[in-house]
Amino acid sequence: MRHRIAVVGSGPAGLTFARVLHRHGCPVAVLERDPAADARPPGGVLDLHEGLGQLALDKAGLLAEFRAFSRPEGQAMRILDTDGAVLRDWRPRPDDRANPEIDRGQLRDLLLGPLDVQWGRGVTQVVPGTRDGVQVHFEDGRQETFDLVVGADGAWSRTRPAVSAATPQYTGVTYVETSLEDVDTRHPGLARLIGDGSVAAYGVNRALVAQRNSGGHVKVYAQFRAPLDWHTNLDLADVEAVRSSLLALFDGWAAPVLDLLRHGTAFVHRPLYVLPVSHTWPHVCGVTLLGDAAHLMPPLGAGANLAMLEGAELAESLAAGPGDLDEAVRAFEEQMWERAARWAKITTAGLERLVSPDPAQALAIFDRVQPS
Ligand SMILES: Cc1cc2nc3c(=O)[nH]c(=O)nc-3n(C[C@H](O)[C@H](O)[C@H](O)COP(=O)(O)OP(=O)(O)OC[C@H]3O[C@@H](n4cnc5c(N)ncnc54)[C@H](O)[C@@H]3O)c2cc1C
Repeated sequence: MRHRIAVVGSGPAGLTFARVLHRHGCPVAVLERDPAADARPPGGVLDLHEGLGQLALDKAGLLAEFRAFSRPEGQAMRILDTDGAVLRDWRPRPDDRANPEIDRGQLRDLLLGPLDVQWGRGVTQVVPGTRDGVQVHFEDGRQETFDLVVGADGAWSRTRPAVSAATPQYTGVTYVETSLEDVDTRHPGLARLIGDGSVAAYGVNRALVAQRNSGGHVKVYAQFRAPLDWHTNLDLADVEAVRSSLLALFDGWAAPVLDLLRHGTAFVHRPLYVLPVSHTWPHVCGVTLLGDAAHLMPPLGAGANLAMLEGAELAESLAAGPGDLDEAVRAFEEQMWERAARWAKITTAGLERLVSPDPAQALAIFDRVQPS
């Protein structure tokens, strides 16, 4: 008998899981809260590592298509000091395929392909251990039962409480995101500053990072240490008020760097939360977690990569059946926890040093990753 499998969430984790199952001819219900694929802006770029996200795409049979869309030149990285002086200017070789960038929207469309996602199906609760299996409760009051429910529903997962009482905690670092449109035509000076990839300037307890997406679109992140309520006297919906507040926070930085904020359009507040490093849970029959739902960590280039590889690995091991479903999940969890804990330690230490009282620490991280 075929197992009834559901995945909650159609982010990188859920879609990769579903796509690899689909490749092996195994049915899966993809339950997504958003009403449509394009209901929200998809976000910025992701760099997919050779041994993680790219491996997952290979397992999904999508590596060649990824290579057609992705931008190896997007790996370029320039580091400035707060006066705008260039401290490092690293460019990848043309054949460097270690971490090419792809827009999130392009990745989503690539993974979606033939999948039949159930849009507008927000899950409110997952209840394991009922007579028929695992019950899923939906926002519209309906319920369905499955043999395995995989929670790939991100940081604020509604599946997670079925296996763990852990909740994300604020890191003390906040990002405020803004965008530049049509940068090459409208802001050629900034386009040159950003180059093909990213530019970052590090100061005391704050940083400004800009990343080129495709089509002349740029995402800018103002990053700083602050209490969670730093914006108590600020209306976050008031674009000019947020801009003034950020310009005051980065006061004294070089004008070309501050132009990243001066020309930004809307501002989105993103306080960074994490789950505990080495988050595990006593195995619960019929429920597991993938990606941010399992191991939310600082956004330093690992989260989506891990999420995708986990999705691909769990799908492959389920598709390899006809073994015991639960044994496959248990073995998968052990492997996921071990790898995620390693990355959670790396990214937690990385965030401490990138947004730190000593900007030289950020440079030291860069020199370790990209020695000249
Ligand atoms: C600014 C920033 C930059 C980043 N850059 C990188 C990078 O370069 N490389 C990298 O590897 N990672 C990066 N990350 C991390 C990466 O975005 C996440 O780790 C990744 O998106 C996690 O994927 P996921 O599928 O687990 O969760 P998500 O991407 O959060 O997807 C969860 C999905 O579940 C749906 N959902 C949520 N709740 C429900 C519900 N109750 N019912 C049904 N559906 C639900 C959501 O709508 C969403 O579609 C970055 C993160 C940030 C914030």
